[in-house]
Amino acid sequence: MMVIMNVDATKEQIEAVITRVEANKFRVIVNTGEDRTLIAVIGSNPSVLREQIMYMPGVDHTVPISRPYKVASREFIPENTVFPLDGFVIGGDEVVVIAGPCAVESRSQLLETAQAVKEAGAQALRGGAFKPRSSPYSFQGLGEEGLEILAEARELTGLPVFTEVMAPEMVPLVAKYADVLQIGARNMQNFALLHAAGECEKPILLKRGISALIEELLMAAEYILSHGNRRVILCERGVRTFETATRNTTDINAIPVLKNLTHLPVILDPSHSTGHADLVTPVARAGVAAGADGLIIEVHPNPKEALSDGGQSLSPEKFAVLVKQVRGIAREVGRK
Ligand code: PEP
Ligand code: MN
Repeated sequence: MMVIMNVDATKEQIEAVITRVEANKFRVIVNTGEDRTLIAVIGSNPSVLREQIMYMPGVDHTVPISRPYKVASREFIPENTVFPLDGFVIGGDEVVVIAGPCAVESRSQLLETAQAVKEAGAQALRGGAFKPRSSPYSFQGLGEEGLEILAEARELTGLPVFTEVMAPEMVPLVAKYADVLQIGARNMQNFALLHAAGECEKPILLKRGISALIEELLMAAEYILSHGNRRVILCERGVRTFETATRNTTDINAIPVLKNLTHLPVILDPSHSTGHADLVTPVARAGVAAGADGLIIEVHPNPKEALSDGGQSLSPEKFAVLVKQVRGIAREVGRK
């Protein structure tokens, strides 16, 4: 249930509603909006409580929320979530481009890529230090050494760093180095990890699971939000379908659907959603045209020799073309 307070509700009236809700063993999440306060009541079957609350002083009206996620919903927070990272703002007018290798392989590989993507117009650097690989025999990442290299690349280029965290106990270590912690598709419903991410000070990039519904993605985001971290970015990265011509199927629909259902920024990963370097740029254009707030793109100085995801990685030259084309599309749809 949502309690919508009057525009001129006093602090005491708001407090009284919160006290009544909590006395009934429900949790509250308060959204102090620009003109009025909204109070989300979290718990099962609050309909009896609704009768008590709707006539309290200062209450304008109450609305049942049937959705299984609350804080992530546009009903609870109508305005877009917009927050700054080093040098840019996500969720606002700008379409942001995050780029870098699938995995940090060596100091020289990462520093070279970081410089190249910066020159081509990327605003942030990606790179996995801990890699969730389907086979235990594939390259698993450099671990903490990879994080140190990422931090060095940030020093050199000024680009904030996005990197994956795979386990709850690793959150403090990854947060020490990263600007944004990525939770990958395979971990979208790792609830212990989502909980730890919710208690972390850094923003989270949450990728859609390989076979996850949009609603399941939003419930996963709700785990993070409800534990206190409000800086969550959602990422469509393709879903598994019957089609084998591409690695995954880009669910372009998910972008406008998510933008309607949630206030959180939504970005597209056309590298994993297509799995083929030749398809990345056209699908990136489509994502921006569909309203994505950003793109995350795999770039490697020598894709043929990449230790992971070489087939879908762009060379720095091809990435520069992508940025140029996407810039044109962004302008067409009224973005920067
Ligand atoms: C990645 O970004 O390198 C990655 C492993 O992506 P996903 O979790 O979407 O498969
Ligand atoms: Mn990858």
